[in-house]
Amino acid sequence: MPATKFQCRDGSTVPIKECLQHCPNGQRCMFLPTLRSVAESLNRKLDKPSVTELIAGTRETYLKRTQHYAVDPMQQLYALHGSAVHTIQEGHNEGNIITEERLADDITSGKFDLYGQIVDLSDSTLGDYKVTSSYKLMKALGYYKVDVPTGEVYKTGLKKGQPKTRKEWRTDGVRHLLDWAIQLNYYRILLEEAGFKVKDMVIQALCRDYSLRMAAERNITRPLYLIRINKISDRWIKRYMAAKAMRLKKALKENRLPDKCSVRERWKGRKCESYCDVAEFCPFGRLMKRAANRAA
Ligand code: SF4
Ligand code: SF4
Repeated sequence: MPATKFQCRDGSTVPIKECLQHCPNGQRCMFLPTLRSVAESLNRKLDKPSVTELIAGTRETYLKRTQHYAVDPMQQLYALHGSAVHTIQEGHNEGNIITEERLADDITSGKFDLYGQIVDLSDSTLGDYKVTSSYKLMKALGYYKVDVPTGEVYKTGLKKGQPKTRKEWRTDGVRHLLDWAIQLNYYRILLEEAGFKVKDMVIQALCRDYSLRMAAERNITRPLYLIRINKISDRWIKRYMAAKAMRLKKALKENRLPDKCSVRERWKGRKCESYCDVAEFCPFGRLMKRAANRAA
């Protein structure tokens, strides 16, 4: 079931329907049409789990499908940003470009953002919009820092005699973007099964905190990056997604809470502590939140 409540700034929760009629907190936290758009964006009714639902941890998706959970409308604005980009570009997709089609197979369904002549003369590029943080971008681009000797040595203090170093950026690191790669590759498979050839997969990533000093400290120097996605074997992706779909289906049928999300799916615990909308229904999430609150 989709989110049914909004989490207000003061930590209280209000049924979305009630919020849209009247804000019990006296003054709305954002314009009513914005809240309506956020509510609308949450209201998806799909029988089959979507590609993005299957990429998330099975426990998270199970809880989102079975609990009346609350979301912070402020956090949803970033997702809305992505839809806004579509709206801004509506009417400019003429030529060999197809947008926002939902395709399905017997495992899942997915709506790709755009396909066609979007980055070069090839008319078969699959594109996806992302609005993301400078941290996620730095990781996705494979940026990392190394210590480089300056040629000088410390003359005094504890490090006396040791070489001095300075930090330098490298851009050839491991690109941490498996979720994005699985998502785009699955859209590619769906498109190819529908008879469309896909030559390239590219993400247009807009950095939402680009103007902050923190972004520059992460070597993010532009508001927008194009990131090419490599092909992953169809066989691997299909097996991976089929296994996750099966696990979710079984848990829903037996009404049984699946195992906790994997270390990668729960972002090494960061998601459980601060970013999982259903953490309050998850025993592990509650534990992580309690531990984080104690440490704060
Ligand atoms: S308008 Fe904002 S503060 Fe008021 S009920 Fe809705 S979410 Fe809460
Ligand atoms: S709190 Fe963590 S383990 Fe629990 S559902 Fe959310 S992401 Fe998964």
